[in-house]
Amino acid sequence: GTFILIFFLPATVFYLLLMCKQDDPSLLNFPPPLPALESLWETRVFGVFLLWFFFQALLYLLPVGKVVEGLPLSSGRKLQYRINGFYAFVLTAAVIGTLLYFQFELHYLYDHFMQFAVSAAAFSMVLSIYLYIRSLKAPEEELAPGGNSGYFVYDFFTGHELNPRIGSFDLKYFCELRPGLIGWVVINLAMLLAEMKIHNQSMPSLAMILVNSFQLLYVVDALWNEEAVLTTMDITHDGFGFMLAFGDLVWVPFVYSLQAFYLVSHPIAISWPAAAAITVLNCIGYYIFRSANSQKNSFRRNPADPKLASLKFIPTATGKGLLVTGWWGFVRHPNYLGDIIMALAWSLPCGFNHILPYFYVIYFICLLVHREARDEHHCKQKYGLAWERYCQRVPYRIFPYIY
Ligand code: NDP
Repeated sequence: GTFILIFFLPATVFYLLLMCKQDDPSLLNFPPPLPALESLWETRVFGVFLLWFFFQALLYLLPVGKVVEGLPLSSGRKLQYRINGFYAFVLTAAVIGTLLYFQFELHYLYDHFMQFAVSAAAFSMVLSIYLYIRSLKAPEEELAPGGNSGYFVYDFFTGHELNPRIGSFDLKYFCELRPGLIGWVVINLAMLLAEMKIHNQSMPSLAMILVNSFQLLYVVDALWNEEAVLTTMDITHDGFGFMLAFGDLVWVPFVYSLQAFYLVSHPIAISWPAAAAITVLNCIGYYIFRSANSQKNSFRRNPADPKLASLKFIPTATGKGLLVTGWWGFVRHPNYLGDIIMALAWSLPCGFNHILPYFYVIYFICLLVHREARDEHHCKQKYGLAWERYCQRVPYRIFPYIY
């Protein structure tokens, strides 16, 4: 399965991007005409990609922002992480703003979008090979529990080493929130400018403004709450291999920006009441997502926090508690529910002519169904009887009938 995914995931990205460029992006219009192989690569584009990656790495190294400890590793050791993602975003915004002021044509990104995706995919493959080779020398306790099967392809895909670092530079933590996530916002902006240029508009369309604003909020939120990423499964459980490298550097920036990319060639006029309704939906999703994630993150960081005094929890043998009131007592994985509502709000501005801009919400539901199943399994193993008691107290799941 993982062997097939190594080819299937890049193929899906290129298929989606090719479809988006079609006048009629209907799924029945399959296969889209394939571009000439040599048109997919341009060394200059790869150079711009590298410049972007290393610029973000430089910002990550800046000695600004606090340094915090991650959750304890299996050895009991805690790694240190610098929290400066939001500063990196602000500095990047200042640089992009300056470039635009000096007439830099950001829609270069739109014009060479496929080549950028190919460059990012090639880079993530090289990075994954490097990660796997270095993981062979990593001590046993530094390997990811889920990526240590002994099968080369499986471990290469899921990630063999849990927290690969070069000195204090944490490769997984850096890739999680920086080049891809900030890159996604820059791509969206490039699409907005491309739309204005191509359609000769003095203002972006309402649909484009909604998509850009909603996704900007999501990214800024992730960077503002950067510390919360330290308690997510990606950091605490999953190794750093092809799955996360490709996901962070290719899938997020090039697939999550699909709605903006779609709108450039398929403009939609939406009414103000429709825009207001979609905005309310996005705000509801955001509220659930943010409050659920913050509640769990604060509880994990400091269960004795007086602000959490009203929350009840079940103690477990590991010393950690399981919340049974608040969001986590309402439904299991309330944070996924908020995320799905937002995903729908990002697609709705693209109208109902084609299913393509709904790819994100469909894929995301599949991802979260699988993720929830994985997490339930881990929690059952980790907490045993306490997890069963939690499930009795909180029987509701967001995907109750799927498995
Ligand atoms: P969660 O943040 O939901 O973390 C799951 C963990 O929370 C469990 O393993 C357990 O860990 C802890 N937990 C579960 N139940 C309870 C409870 N009742 N009380 C206290 N702790 C509990 O997982 P993810 O990392 O999957 O998601 C984080 C966020 O990122 C979500 O909002 C998700 O939607 C989003 N996300 C977004 C993606 C995207 O592409 N846009 C992709 C993936 C995730 P432990 O007990 O060990 O602390």
